[in-house]
Amino acid sequence: MSTGNKYEENPEVTARFPDIHPPFDKSGATIEANRCLYCFDAPCTAACPTHIDVPRFIKKISQGNLRGSALTILDANILGASCSRVCPVDVLCEGACVYHRYNKQPIEIGRLQRFAMDAFYRNGAVLAAKTTERRAGKVACIGAGPASLAFAAELRQRGFSAAIFERKPLPGGLNTYGVAEYKLRASDSLREIDLIRELGVDFQFGRNISGEAALAALEREFDFIFLGVGLGKIRLLGIPGEELPGVVDALKFIEEYKTGRNLKVGGRVVVLGAGNTAIDAARAAVRLGAQDVQIVYRRDESSMSAFLFEYEHAREEGVKFRWWTQPVKLVGDEKKISGMECMKVEMDGQSFRHLPGSHFTIPCDMVISAIGQSPLLEFLQACRGVKLENGRVSVDRATGQTSHAKYFAGGDCVNGGREVVDAVADGKRAALAAAQLLEKIHG
Ligand SMILES: Cc1cc2nc3c(=O)[nH]c(=O)nc-3n(C[C@H](O)[C@H](O)[C@H](O)COP(=O)(O)OP(=O)(O)OC[C@H]3O[C@@H](n4cnc5c(N)ncnc54)[C@H](O)[C@@H]3O)c2cc1C
Repeated sequence: MSTGNKYEENPEVTARFPDIHPPFDKSGATIEANRCLYCFDAPCTAACPTHIDVPRFIKKISQGNLRGSALTILDANILGASCSRVCPVDVLCEGACVYHRYNKQPIEIGRLQRFAMDAFYRNGAVLAAKTTERRAGKVACIGAGPASLAFAAELRQRGFSAAIFERKPLPGGLNTYGVAEYKLRASDSLREIDLIRELGVDFQFGRNISGEAALAALEREFDFIFLGVGLGKIRLLGIPGEELPGVVDALKFIEEYKTGRNLKVGGRVVVLGAGNTAIDAARAAVRLGAQDVQIVYRRDESSMSAFLFEYEHAREEGVKFRWWTQPVKLVGDEKKISGMECMKVEMDGQSFRHLPGSHFTIPCDMVISAIGQSPLLEFLQACRGVKLENGRVSVDRATGQTSHAKYFAGGDCVNGGREVVDAVADGKRAALAAAQLLEKIHG
């Protein structure tokens, strides 16, 4: 199977970004599966936004039925393979495992899920549609990220036609271009999407949908349109010097190394921001050979949006953190950045106050900005009749339908930026609601 797009892994990237969680072998997986208590109320399943039947898929592993196990996973989550690698399981399924109550190691649900999914793809992934009937009813998705993939796959499996319009040359959204390579390789993201293509979803790449005319054309051709556009660029820093060579946006930095286009990194790197993207960028800079990597954040440890385990991994890998520090100016010449002027800050009510006399400079030759993505406002405002709230698409939480009856939406453009599994859950929920409406319209 192939995505139809040429993608070749760069061996240097593979070597520098070994797998963060090595997979189970058969006996390891069987022993771990047999530790599961198969709880009848399955708090792990409740904690999963896509509600994978965890005890059931683990039981099937213990019985040696790996295909059955994978099908159980895929029934709830079409991106079960990538989720097994990228999900923050510590705060989801594994965090809910009853073994915590007994002070024991939780079941390694993520690794078991990966074991079943890897076997499924290794043995020639085939997924039967939920119906063989070809139904009238067509949907379009804008964006080929996890939210749209889940939406399109669910409707296709139910017999409806689904097309995905993606502006980039490859599908997968941040799964392919953004998630750290040591968690999910671009090739593994693409392999999983091949399964969705095999279901009959029509992918169209290099299709940047923009403006009211393009949207009106889709509205005429399709019954429903799903907005799965994610978020936009990293926000600007708004300080002098941000145009200097050597100042890069974290998403661009990650995309370039992941696709093998650019593996160059500075020797002394400063990363701005303290979310998961900042941590991923900092850890990547270390792996790419930077000698000194510092994360600069204007609040303290307790206010970081990064998960605690991500923060701890970064520290173990040598990333340093500077708290209560705000950059005020980037300095250098037309060839290169040479430093970041900073001030120490403290909170004064809701705002930050610079501490007088606290100026200092961090010498650096690369600055990676990871201070959060902005919404795709221009695009979203062209979707006339689709209500926005603080730049996010506002939807009915039960159905994913927007204020415009023809539009559904899900994933980061709705939740402001969460996890892959949330995007998948949104896409699937919206697809189930759209399927009911399509049945009413077309019978
Ligand atoms: C650096 C980084 C690391 C992350 N790491 C993790 C992780 O480890 N684990 C985890 O669970 N989550 C992680 N996330 C979050 C996760 O990747 C997102 O929540 C998820 O990808 C959102 O899916 P989505 O479909 O909403 O959007 P996206 O994945 O952003 O996909 C949107 C797609 O829409 C396309 N598009 C946008 N506008 C248009 C248009 N006008 N026309 C056509 N196409 C368009 C884009 O090109 C893109 O392909 C990470 C996010 C980032 C930024």
